Amino acid sequence: MKIWANRLDRAFERHQEEYERAALRVLRSGWYVLGKEVDNFEQSFAKYVGAKFCVGLASGLDALWMAFRMLKIGAGDEVIVQANAYIACVMGITMSGATPIFVEPNEYFNLDVTKIEKAVTAKTKAILAVHLYGQSSDMLAINEIAKKHGLYVVEDCAQSHGAKQGETMTGNFGDIGCFSFYPSKNLGAFGDAGCVTVNSDKLNDDFRTYRNYGSEKRYYNKVVGTNSRLDELQAAFLAVRLKYLNEINAERTKICNRYLAEIKNSAVTFPKIQENCETVWHQFVVQLGNRNEREKFINYLAEKEIGTIIHYPIPPHLSEAYAYLGYKKEDFPIAEKYADSVLSLPLYSGMTDDELSYVIEAINAY
Ligand SMILES: *Cc1c(COP(=O)(O)O)cnc(C)c1O
Repeated sequence: MKIWANRLDRAFERHQEEYERAALRVLRSGWYVLGKEVDNFEQSFAKYVGAKFCVGLASGLDALWMAFRMLKIGAGDEVIVQANAYIACVMGITMSGATPIFVEPNEYFNLDVTKIEKAVTAKTKAILAVHLYGQSSDMLAINEIAKKHGLYVVEDCAQSHGAKQGETMTGNFGDIGCFSFYPSKNLGAFGDAGCVTVNSDKLNDDFRTYRNYGSEKRYYNKVVGTNSRLDELQAAFLAVRLKYLNEINAERTKICNRYLAEIKNSAVTFPKIQENCETVWHQFVVQLGNRNEREKFINYLAEKEIGTIIHYPIPPHLSEAYAYLGYKKEDFPIAEKYADSVLSLPLYSGMTDDELSYVIEAINAY
Protein backbone atom coordinates (compact mmCIF):
# COMPACT_ATOMS: atom_id res chain seq x y z
CA MET A 1 0.00 0.00 0.00
CA LYS A 2 1.49 3.35 -1.00
CA ILE A 3 0.89 6.12 1.55
CA TRP A 4 1.82 9.70 0.76
CA ALA A 5 2.99 11.95 3.57
CA ASN A 6 0.35 14.40 2.40
CA ARG A 7 -2.11 14.48 -0.46
CA LEU A 8 -4.63 17.10 -1.49
CA ASP A 9 -6.74 15.24 -4.04
CA ARG A 10 -9.06 13.53 -1.54
CA ALA A 11 -10.18 16.80 0.06
CA PHE A 12 -10.97 18.17 -3.39
CA GLU A 13 -12.86 15.07 -4.48
CA ARG A 14 -15.00 15.09 -1.34
CA HIS A 15 -16.61 18.41 -2.35
CA GLN A 16 -15.66 18.47 -6.01
CA GLU A 17 -19.02 19.61 -7.29
CA GLU A 18 -19.15 22.57 -4.95
CA TYR A 19 -15.67 23.72 -5.93
CA GLU A 20 -16.47 23.38 -9.60
CA ARG A 21 -19.69 25.33 -9.20
CA ALA A 22 -17.84 28.09 -7.34
CA ALA A 23 -15.21 28.25 -10.08
CA LEU A 24 -17.81 28.52 -12.83
CA ARG A 25 -19.67 31.23 -10.94
CA VAL A 26 -16.50 33.33 -10.73
CA LEU A 27 -15.39 32.65 -14.29
CA ARG A 28 -18.77 33.69 -15.62
CA SER A 29 -19.04 36.76 -13.40
CA GLY A 30 -16.51 38.84 -15.34
CA TRP A 31 -14.93 40.09 -12.07
CA TYR A 32 -11.72 38.42 -10.89
CA VAL A 33 -9.85 40.44 -8.25
CA LEU A 34 -11.18 42.02 -5.02
CA GLY A 35 -14.92 41.69 -5.46
CA LYS A 36 -18.01 40.09 -3.93
CA GLU A 37 -16.34 36.73 -3.35
CA VAL A 38 -13.49 38.31 -1.40
CA ASP A 39 -15.92 40.44 0.65
CA ASN A 40 -17.97 37.39 1.45
CA PHE A 41 -15.00 35.25 2.48
CA GLU A 42 -13.48 38.06 4.56
CA GLN A 43 -16.70 38.45 6.51
CA SER A 44 -17.18 34.72 7.02
CA PHE A 45 -13.60 34.17 8.14
CA ALA A 46 -13.58 37.14 10.53
CA LYS A 47 -16.74 35.73 12.08
CA TYR A 48 -15.22 32.27 12.32
CA VAL A 49 -12.11 33.55 14.10
CA GLY A 50 -14.15 35.92 16.25
CA ALA A 51 -12.23 38.97 15.01
CA LYS A 52 -13.77 42.22 13.89
CA PHE A 53 -12.06 42.24 10.47
CA CYS A 54 -10.34 39.97 8.00
CA VAL A 55 -8.35 41.38 5.07
CA GLY A 56 -7.60 38.99 2.20
CA LEU A 57 -4.03 39.02 0.89
CA ALA A 58 -1.96 37.12 -1.64
CA SER A 59 -0.05 34.84 0.76
CA GLY A 60 0.90 34.09 4.34
CA LEU A 61 4.32 35.64 3.88
CA ASP A 62 2.70 38.87 2.71
CA ALA A 63 0.48 38.83 5.79
CA LEU A 64 3.58 38.60 7.98
CA TRP A 65 5.81 41.29 6.46
CA MET A 66 2.88 43.62 5.93
CA ALA A 67 1.88 43.14 9.58
CA PHE A 68 5.23 44.53 10.73
CA ARG A 69 5.04 47.30 8.11
CA MET A 70 1.57 48.33 9.31
CA LEU A 71 2.84 48.43 12.91
CA LYS A 72 5.74 50.65 11.71
CA ILE A 73 8.29 48.08 12.76
CA GLY A 74 11.40 48.13 10.58
CA ALA A 75 15.14 48.77 10.46
CA GLY A 76 16.70 48.99 13.93
CA ASP A 77 13.79 47.20 15.59
CA GLU A 78 13.80 43.71 17.06
CA VAL A 79 11.08 41.06 16.92
CA ILE A 80 11.10 37.99 19.16
CA VAL A 81 10.30 34.65 17.51
CA GLN A 82 10.84 30.99 18.44
CA ALA A 83 14.06 29.47 17.13
CA ASN A 84 12.29 26.44 15.59
CA ALA A 85 9.93 28.58 13.47
CA TYR A 86 9.36 28.02 9.77
CA ILE A 87 11.70 30.11 7.64
CA ALA A 88 8.79 32.21 6.29
CA CYS A 89 8.11 33.52 9.82
CA VAL A 90 11.65 34.88 9.97
CA MET A 91 11.49 36.21 6.41
CA GLY A 92 8.35 38.10 7.39
CA ILE A 93 10.43 39.86 10.04
CA THR A 94 13.49 40.55 7.90
CA MET A 95 11.51 41.64 4.81
CA SER A 96 10.06 44.42 6.93
CA GLY A 97 13.63 45.44 7.79
CA ALA A 98 13.53 44.31 11.43
CA THR A 99 15.90 41.88 13.16
CA PRO A 100 14.70 38.50 14.46
CA ILE A 101 15.66 37.66 18.04
CA PHE A 102 15.37 33.94 18.58
CA VAL A 103 14.02 32.34 21.75
CA GLU A 104 14.06 28.61 22.41
CA PRO A 105 10.83 26.62 22.00
CA ASN A 106 9.16 24.67 24.81
CA GLU A 107 8.19 20.98 24.87
CA TYR A 108 5.10 21.83 22.78
CA PHE A 109 7.26 23.25 19.94
CA ASN A 110 5.96 26.78 20.66
CA LEU A 111 7.60 29.85 22.23
CA ASP A 112 8.96 29.10 25.71
CA VAL A 113 7.31 31.94 27.58
CA THR A 114 9.75 31.63 30.49
CA LYS A 115 12.58 32.72 28.19
CA ILE A 116 10.98 35.68 26.44
CA GLU A 117 11.78 38.40 28.97
CA LYS A 118 15.52 37.69 28.89
CA ALA A 119 15.42 38.46 25.16
CA VAL A 120 13.66 41.84 25.50
CA THR A 121 15.88 44.88 24.86
CA ALA A 122 15.24 48.59 24.33
CA LYS A 123 14.88 47.80 20.61
CA THR A 124 12.24 45.08 20.99
CA LYS A 125 8.98 46.09 19.34
CA ALA A 126 6.99 42.89 18.98
CA ILE A 127 6.62 39.19 19.72
CA LEU A 128 5.78 36.91 16.80
CA ALA A 129 4.03 33.83 18.19
CA VAL A 130 3.96 30.96 15.70
CA HIS A 131 1.31 28.36 16.53
CA LEU A 132 3.41 25.56 15.16
CA TYR A 133 1.96 22.28 13.84
CA GLY A 134 -1.57 23.40 14.75
CA GLN A 135 -1.23 24.04 18.47
CA SER A 136 -2.02 27.40 20.02
CA SER A 137 0.90 29.05 21.79
CA ASP A 138 0.40 30.14 25.38
CA MET A 139 -1.11 33.46 24.31
CA LEU A 140 -2.32 34.45 27.77
CA ALA A 141 1.27 34.44 29.04
CA ILE A 142 2.62 36.06 25.85
CA ASN A 143 0.06 38.87 25.99
CA GLU A 144 0.91 39.51 29.63
CA ILE A 145 4.63 39.83 28.87
CA ALA A 146 3.88 42.04 25.87
CA LYS A 147 1.70 44.31 27.95
CA LYS A 148 4.34 44.62 30.64
CA HIS A 149 7.01 45.68 28.12
CA GLY A 150 4.80 47.64 25.74
CA LEU A 151 5.24 45.24 22.80
CA TYR A 152 2.99 44.41 19.89
CA VAL A 153 1.87 40.80 19.45
CA VAL A 154 1.65 39.28 15.98
CA GLU A 155 0.37 35.72 15.58
CA ASP A 156 1.41 33.39 12.78
CA CYS A 157 -1.69 31.23 12.35
CA ALA A 158 -0.64 29.63 9.06
CA GLN A 159 -0.84 26.20 10.71
CA SER A 160 -3.55 26.84 13.30
CA HIS A 161 -6.86 27.67 11.58
CA GLY A 162 -9.45 26.99 14.28
CA ALA A 163 -7.06 26.22 17.16
CA LYS A 164 -7.89 27.78 20.52
CA GLN A 165 -6.52 28.61 23.91
CA GLY A 166 -9.44 28.52 26.30
CA GLU A 167 -12.38 29.80 24.30
CA THR A 168 -10.41 32.20 22.11
CA MET A 169 -9.28 31.27 18.63
CA THR A 170 -5.75 31.90 17.38
CA GLY A 171 -5.68 35.03 15.28
CA ASN A 172 -7.76 36.86 17.85
CA PHE A 173 -5.24 37.23 20.70
CA GLY A 174 -2.67 39.64 19.32
CA ASP A 175 -2.72 42.90 17.40
CA ILE A 176 -2.62 41.07 14.07
CA GLY A 177 -3.30 37.44 13.14
CA CYS A 178 -1.50 36.27 9.98
CA PHE A 179 -2.95 33.37 8.00
CA SER A 180 -1.77 31.42 4.99
CA PHE A 181 -4.19 29.50 2.78
CA TYR A 182 -1.48 27.66 0.88
CA PRO A 183 -3.10 24.45 -0.44
CA SER A 184 -1.65 22.13 2.22
CA LYS A 185 -2.84 24.21 5.20
CA ASN A 186 -5.89 23.06 7.19
CA LEU A 187 -7.86 25.78 5.40
CA GLY A 188 -6.24 25.57 1.99
CA ALA A 189 -6.99 27.30 -1.30
CA PHE A 190 -6.16 25.95 -4.77
CA GLY A 191 -3.23 28.27 -5.19
CA ASP A 192 -1.59 30.96 -3.08
CA ALA A 193 -3.69 33.04 -0.68
CA GLY A 194 -3.54 34.54 2.81
CA CYS A 195 -5.15 37.09 5.11
CA VAL A 196 -4.83 39.02 8.33
CA THR A 197 -7.38 39.28 11.12
CA VAL A 198 -7.51 42.47 13.20
CA ASN A 199 -9.81 44.16 15.69
CA SER A 200 -8.63 47.71 15.04
CA ASP A 201 -10.50 49.87 12.51
CA LYS A 202 -7.28 51.68 11.66
CA LEU A 203 -5.30 48.51 10.93
CA ASN A 204 -8.19 47.21 8.86
CA ASP A 205 -8.16 50.40 6.75
CA ASP A 206 -4.36 50.44 6.52
CA PHE A 207 -4.13 46.84 5.24
CA ARG A 208 -6.88 47.47 2.68
CA THR A 209 -5.09 50.53 1.35
CA TYR A 210 -1.64 48.97 1.42
CA ARG A 211 -2.56 45.72 -0.38
CA ASN A 212 -3.75 47.67 -3.40
CA TYR A 213 -0.82 50.01 -4.23
CA GLY A 214 -1.67 52.23 -1.29
CA SER A 215 -4.83 53.48 -2.94
CA GLU A 216 -8.13 53.98 -1.18
CA LYS A 217 -9.64 55.56 -4.21
CA ARG A 218 -8.61 54.41 -7.66
CA TYR A 219 -5.47 56.24 -8.90
CA TYR A 220 -5.22 58.23 -5.70
CA ASN A 221 -2.25 56.72 -3.88
CA LYS A 222 -1.94 57.57 -0.25
CA VAL A 223 1.16 55.52 0.60
CA VAL A 224 3.70 53.40 -1.28
CA GLY A 225 1.92 50.09 -0.97
CA THR A 226 2.19 46.74 -2.68
CA ASN A 227 0.14 44.36 -4.77
CA SER A 228 -1.11 41.67 -2.43
CA ARG A 229 -4.71 41.05 -3.39
CA LEU A 230 -6.76 37.92 -2.83
CA ASP A 231 -8.40 36.88 -6.08
CA GLU A 232 -12.06 36.00 -6.51
CA LEU A 233 -11.45 32.37 -7.50
CA GLN A 234 -9.42 31.59 -4.39
CA ALA A 235 -11.90 33.46 -2.18
CA ALA A 236 -14.79 31.45 -3.64
CA PHE A 237 -12.91 28.17 -3.03
CA LEU A 238 -12.02 29.25 0.48
CA ALA A 239 -15.64 30.07 1.30
CA VAL A 240 -16.58 26.49 0.37
CA ARG A 241 -13.75 24.98 2.39
CA LEU A 242 -14.43 27.20 5.40
CA LYS A 243 -17.86 25.59 5.76
CA TYR A 244 -16.08 22.28 6.32
CA LEU A 245 -13.14 23.52 8.39
CA ASN A 246 -14.47 22.18 11.70
CA GLU A 247 -15.12 18.86 10.01
CA ILE A 248 -11.61 18.85 8.50
CA ASN A 249 -10.05 19.58 11.89
CA ALA A 250 -12.18 16.91 13.59
CA GLU A 251 -11.11 14.37 11.00
CA ARG A 252 -7.44 15.22 11.57
CA THR A 253 -7.99 14.90 15.33
CA LYS A 254 -9.53 11.46 14.87
CA ILE A 255 -6.55 10.31 12.80
CA CYS A 256 -4.05 11.66 15.33
CA ASN A 257 -5.93 10.14 18.25
CA ARG A 258 -5.51 6.74 16.60
CA TYR A 259 -1.78 7.42 16.23
CA LEU A 260 -1.60 8.34 19.91
CA ALA A 261 -3.62 5.33 21.08
CA GLU A 262 -2.24 2.66 18.79
CA ILE A 263 1.42 3.38 18.10
CA LYS A 264 3.42 1.35 20.59
CA ASN A 265 7.10 1.76 19.92
CA SER A 266 9.59 3.21 22.36
CA ALA A 267 11.71 4.60 19.49
CA VAL A 268 8.96 7.14 18.83
CA THR A 269 8.21 10.13 21.10
CA PHE A 270 4.71 11.60 20.80
CA PRO A 271 3.80 15.27 20.50
CA LYS A 272 2.38 16.87 23.68
CA ILE A 273 -0.56 19.20 24.05
CA GLN A 274 -0.38 22.02 26.57
CA GLU A 275 -3.24 22.25 29.05
CA ASN A 276 -5.89 24.73 27.95
CA CYS A 277 -4.30 24.95 24.45
CA GLU A 278 -5.99 23.23 21.55
CA THR A 279 -4.38 21.79 18.46
CA VAL A 280 -5.96 21.35 15.04
CA TRP A 281 -3.19 18.88 14.09
CA HIS A 282 -1.71 20.60 11.08
CA GLN A 283 1.06 18.02 11.47
CA PHE A 284 1.52 14.97 13.66
CA VAL A 285 5.15 15.44 14.68
CA VAL A 286 6.96 12.64 16.46
CA GLN A 287 10.57 12.65 17.57
CA LEU A 288 13.24 10.03 16.94
CA GLY A 289 16.41 10.05 19.03
CA ASN A 290 18.78 11.83 16.64
CA ARG A 291 19.55 12.40 12.96
CA ASN A 292 20.87 8.84 12.41
CA GLU A 293 17.99 7.15 14.17
CA ARG A 294 15.52 9.31 12.29
CA GLU A 295 17.21 8.49 8.98
CA LYS A 296 16.95 4.76 9.71
CA PHE A 297 13.27 5.11 10.59
CA ILE A 298 12.51 7.17 7.46
CA ASN A 299 14.25 4.59 5.28
CA TYR A 300 12.39 1.75 6.94
CA LEU A 301 9.03 3.45 6.32
CA ALA A 302 10.05 4.35 2.76
CA GLU A 303 10.71 0.67 2.07
CA LYS A 304 7.11 0.07 3.02
CA GLU A 305 6.11 2.93 0.70
CA ILE A 306 5.12 5.21 3.58
CA GLY A 307 6.06 8.85 3.04
CA THR A 308 7.16 11.21 5.80
CA ILE A 309 8.36 14.84 5.91
CA ILE A 310 10.72 16.73 8.23
CA HIS A 311 9.28 20.04 9.44
CA TYR A 312 12.00 21.43 9.47
CA PRO A 313 15.51 20.01 9.03
CA ILE A 314 17.44 23.31 9.40
CA PRO A 315 16.48 25.93 12.01
CA PRO A 316 16.39 29.48 10.61
CA HIS A 317 19.46 30.66 12.55
CA LEU A 318 21.57 27.99 10.79
CA SER A 319 20.03 28.52 7.38
CA GLU A 320 22.40 29.77 4.67
CA ALA A 321 19.95 32.60 4.00
CA TYR A 322 20.57 33.94 7.52
CA ALA A 323 24.33 33.35 7.71
CA TYR A 324 24.66 37.16 7.84
CA LEU A 325 23.04 37.19 11.28
CA GLY A 326 26.19 35.45 12.53
CA TYR A 327 24.74 32.56 14.51
CA LYS A 328 26.50 29.22 14.93
CA LYS A 329 25.67 25.66 15.93
CA GLU A 330 24.74 25.21 19.62
CA ASP A 331 23.36 28.76 19.88
CA PHE A 332 19.85 27.32 20.26
CA PRO A 333 20.33 23.68 21.31
CA ILE A 334 16.64 22.88 21.84
CA ALA A 335 15.63 24.13 18.39
CA GLU A 336 18.60 22.29 16.91
CA LYS A 337 17.64 19.09 18.72
CA TYR A 338 14.15 19.37 17.22
CA ALA A 339 15.60 19.90 13.75
CA ASP A 340 17.61 16.69 14.25
CA SER A 341 14.77 14.57 15.60
CA VAL A 342 11.31 15.66 14.38
CA LEU A 343 9.34 13.74 11.78
CA SER A 344 5.81 14.28 10.47
CA LEU A 345 3.76 11.12 9.92
CA PRO A 346 1.23 10.84 7.06
CA LEU A 347 -1.81 13.01 7.70
CA TYR A 348 -4.37 14.30 5.24
CA SER A 349 -8.09 14.74 4.67
CA GLY A 350 -9.57 11.51 3.38
CA MET A 351 -6.95 9.21 4.90
CA THR A 352 -8.74 5.86 5.18
CA ASP A 353 -8.83 3.58 8.23
CA ASP A 354 -6.95 0.96 6.24
CA GLU A 355 -4.21 3.41 5.31
CA LEU A 356 -3.91 4.51 8.90
CA SER A 357 -3.80 0.93 10.18
CA TYR A 358 -1.10 0.12 7.65
CA VAL A 359 1.07 3.01 8.91
CA ILE A 360 0.49 2.12 12.57
CA GLU A 361 1.30 -1.57 12.03
CA ALA A 362 4.46 -0.69 10.14
CA ILE A 363 5.62 1.57 12.96
CA ASN A 364 4.79 -1.01 15.61
CA ALA A 365 6.76 -3.63 13.70
CA TYR A 366 9.85 -1.39 13.60
C1 LIG B 1 2.94 28.24 5.27
C2 LIG B 1 3.48 29.10 6.33
C3 LIG B 1 3.81 30.45 6.11
C4 LIG B 1 3.86 31.06 4.75
O1 LIG B 1 2.67 31.08 4.08
P1 LIG B 1 2.67 31.24 2.47
O2 LIG B 1 1.24 31.37 2.14
O3 LIG B 1 3.31 30.01 1.91
O4 LIG B 1 3.46 32.47 2.16
C5 LIG B 1 4.22 31.20 7.19
N1 LIG B 1 4.30 30.68 8.42
C6 LIG B 1 4.02 29.40 8.68
C7 LIG B 1 4.12 28.89 10.08
C8 LIG B 1 3.62 28.55 7.65
O5 LIG B 1 3.35 27.27 7.92
